[in-house]
Amino acid sequence: MTKNIKNEYITVKSSSIHNNGVFAKKNIPAGTKIIEYVGEKITKKEAERRFNETFKKAQNSEEHGAVYLFHLNSRYDIDGNVPYNPARFINHSCKPNCEVKIIKGHIWVIALANIKNSEELSYNYSYDYEVHEDHPCLCGTDICVGYIVAEEHWPKLKRKLARKKHQNRP
Ligand SMILES: [Zn+2]
Repeated sequence: MTKNIKNEYITVKSSSIHNNGVFAKKNIPAGTKIIEYVGEKITKKEAERRFNETFKKAQNSEEHGAVYLFHLNSRYDIDGNVPYNPARFINHSCKPNCEVKIIKGHIWVIALANIKNSEELSYNYSYDYEVHEDHPCLCGTDICVGYIVAEEHWPKLKRKLARKKHQNRP
Protein backbone atom coordinates (compact mmCIF):
# COMPACT_ATOMS: atom_id res chain seq x y z
CA MET A 1 0.00 0.00 0.00
CA THR A 2 1.38 3.38 -0.95
CA LYS A 3 0.37 6.27 1.23
CA ASN A 4 0.00 9.84 0.11
CA ILE A 5 2.67 11.96 1.66
CA LYS A 6 4.23 15.23 0.65
CA ASN A 7 7.97 14.79 0.54
CA GLU A 8 10.06 15.05 -2.61
CA TYR A 9 12.42 12.22 -1.60
CA ILE A 10 10.36 9.43 -0.08
CA THR A 11 7.35 7.19 -0.23
CA VAL A 12 5.87 4.76 2.35
CA LYS A 13 5.05 1.17 1.43
CA SER A 14 5.29 -2.32 2.87
CA SER A 15 8.80 -3.48 3.72
CA SER A 16 10.56 -6.82 3.89
CA ILE A 17 12.17 -5.73 7.18
CA HIS A 18 9.05 -4.90 9.17
CA ASN A 19 5.50 -3.74 8.32
CA ASN A 20 5.75 -0.45 6.49
CA GLY A 21 8.99 1.12 5.41
CA VAL A 22 10.18 4.33 3.83
CA PHE A 23 11.69 4.18 0.36
CA ALA A 24 13.58 6.65 -1.79
CA LYS A 25 11.58 7.78 -4.81
CA LYS A 26 14.64 9.34 -6.44
CA ASN A 27 18.42 9.21 -6.03
CA ILE A 28 19.40 11.01 -2.82
CA PRO A 29 22.97 12.34 -2.40
CA ALA A 30 24.85 11.70 0.86
CA GLY A 31 24.33 14.48 3.38
CA THR A 32 20.79 15.35 2.23
CA LYS A 33 18.32 16.32 4.95
CA ILE A 34 15.66 13.91 3.75
CA ILE A 35 12.81 14.36 6.17
CA GLU A 36 12.15 15.86 9.57
CA TYR A 37 10.90 13.55 12.32
CA VAL A 38 7.92 15.55 13.53
CA GLY A 39 5.27 15.08 16.16
CA GLU A 40 3.93 16.39 19.39
CA LYS A 41 6.46 18.07 21.67
CA ILE A 42 5.89 16.70 25.16
CA THR A 43 7.70 16.81 28.50
CA LYS A 44 9.83 13.86 29.64
CA LYS A 45 7.23 13.18 32.33
CA GLU A 46 4.40 12.97 29.80
CA ALA A 47 6.60 10.79 27.57
CA GLU A 48 7.13 8.39 30.45
CA ARG A 49 3.38 8.27 31.11
CA ARG A 50 2.64 7.48 27.44
CA PHE A 51 5.37 4.88 27.31
CA ASN A 52 4.00 3.07 30.37
CA GLU A 53 0.46 3.26 29.02
CA THR A 54 1.47 1.72 25.67
CA PHE A 55 3.53 -0.90 27.45
CA LYS A 56 0.59 -1.87 29.68
CA LYS A 57 -1.79 -2.06 26.72
CA ALA A 58 0.64 -4.28 24.84
CA GLN A 59 0.85 -6.67 27.79
CA ASN A 60 -2.92 -7.06 27.92
CA SER A 61 -3.44 -7.77 24.25
CA GLU A 62 -2.01 -9.55 21.26
CA GLU A 63 -1.15 -6.21 19.73
CA HIS A 64 2.37 -4.94 19.87
CA GLY A 65 2.58 -1.52 21.39
CA ALA A 66 4.56 0.68 19.07
CA VAL A 67 6.33 3.58 20.68
CA TYR A 68 7.50 6.55 18.64
CA LEU A 69 8.97 8.69 21.38
CA PHE A 70 12.10 10.48 20.31
CA HIS A 71 14.60 12.20 22.56
CA LEU A 72 14.78 15.91 21.68
CA ASN A 73 16.66 17.43 24.62
CA SER A 74 16.92 17.12 28.39
CA ARG A 75 13.40 18.51 28.90
CA TYR A 76 11.35 17.41 25.92
CA ASP A 77 10.64 14.41 23.73
CA ILE A 78 8.82 14.23 20.42
CA ASP A 79 5.91 11.80 20.19
CA GLY A 80 6.03 10.91 16.51
CA ASN A 81 2.91 8.74 16.58
CA VAL A 82 0.94 11.19 14.42
CA PRO A 83 -0.39 10.75 10.89
CA TYR A 84 1.64 13.68 9.56
CA ASN A 85 4.96 11.99 10.47
CA PRO A 86 5.89 9.45 7.77
CA ALA A 87 9.43 9.31 9.24
CA ARG A 88 7.97 7.03 11.95
CA PHE A 89 7.83 4.26 9.34
CA ILE A 90 11.61 4.26 8.79
CA ASN A 91 12.93 0.88 9.92
CA HIS A 92 15.98 0.13 12.00
CA SER A 93 19.04 -1.41 10.38
CA CYS A 94 22.43 -2.50 11.71
CA LYS A 95 23.87 -1.18 8.44
CA PRO A 96 21.85 1.98 7.94
CA ASN A 97 21.96 4.42 5.04
CA CYS A 98 20.69 7.31 7.17
CA GLU A 99 21.45 8.89 10.51
CA VAL A 100 19.38 11.07 12.78
CA LYS A 101 20.67 14.41 13.97
CA ILE A 102 19.12 17.08 16.11
CA ILE A 103 19.74 20.41 14.41
CA LYS A 104 18.51 23.61 16.09
CA GLY A 105 15.73 21.82 17.93
CA HIS A 106 14.60 19.77 14.94
CA ILE A 107 15.11 16.05 14.40
CA TRP A 108 16.42 15.35 10.90
CA VAL A 109 16.89 12.11 9.03
CA ILE A 110 20.02 12.60 6.93
CA ALA A 111 21.50 10.43 4.17
CA LEU A 112 24.76 8.80 5.31
CA ALA A 113 25.56 7.62 1.81
CA ASN A 114 24.28 8.10 -1.72
CA ILE A 115 20.88 6.40 -1.73
CA LYS A 116 19.48 4.96 -4.94
CA ASN A 117 15.94 5.39 -6.14
CA SER A 118 13.65 2.71 -4.54
CA GLU A 119 16.19 1.76 -1.83
CA GLU A 120 14.69 1.43 1.66
CA LEU A 121 15.75 4.07 4.18
CA SER A 122 16.97 3.00 7.61
CA TYR A 123 18.80 4.30 10.63
CA ASN A 124 20.10 2.75 13.83
CA TYR A 125 17.43 3.17 16.53
CA SER A 126 20.26 3.12 19.08
CA TYR A 127 18.29 1.48 21.87
CA ASP A 128 19.86 0.97 25.29
CA TYR A 129 21.69 -2.27 25.96
CA GLU A 130 19.39 -3.09 28.90
CA VAL A 131 16.33 -3.61 26.66
CA HIS A 132 17.93 -5.29 23.64
CA GLU A 133 16.34 -8.69 24.32
CA ASP A 134 12.91 -7.16 23.71
CA HIS A 135 13.98 -5.99 20.27
CA PRO A 136 15.34 -8.68 17.95
CA CYS A 137 16.60 -7.20 14.68
CA LEU A 138 15.24 -8.33 11.32
CA CYS A 139 17.35 -6.06 9.12
CA GLY A 140 18.94 -9.01 7.31
CA THR A 141 22.17 -7.17 6.49
CA ASP A 142 25.49 -9.03 6.44
CA ILE A 143 26.65 -7.33 9.67
CA CYS A 144 23.38 -7.71 11.64
CA VAL A 145 24.08 -8.19 15.36
CA GLY A 146 20.66 -9.78 15.95
CA TYR A 147 19.22 -7.06 18.14
CA ILE A 148 18.24 -3.42 17.84
CA VAL A 149 20.84 -1.70 19.96
CA ALA A 150 23.16 1.30 19.76
CA GLU A 151 26.40 0.58 17.93
CA GLU A 152 28.44 1.57 21.00
CA HIS A 153 27.04 -1.55 22.73
CA TRP A 154 27.90 -3.97 19.93
CA PRO A 155 31.19 -5.24 21.43
CA LYS A 156 29.43 -6.01 24.73
CA LEU A 157 26.54 -7.74 22.95
CA LYS A 158 28.86 -9.78 20.74
CA ARG A 159 30.81 -10.96 23.79
CA LYS A 160 27.57 -12.02 25.47
CA LEU A 161 26.31 -13.87 22.37
CA ALA A 162 29.68 -15.60 21.94
CA ARG A 163 29.57 -16.82 25.55
CA LYS A 164 26.05 -18.18 24.98
CA LYS A 165 27.13 -20.05 21.85
CA HIS A 166 30.02 -21.56 23.75
CA GLN A 167 27.77 -22.72 26.58
CA ASN A 168 25.33 -24.35 24.15
CA ARG A 169 28.02 -26.48 22.58
CA PRO A 170 27.62 -30.21 23.38
ZN1 LIG B 1 20.20 -6.04 12.24
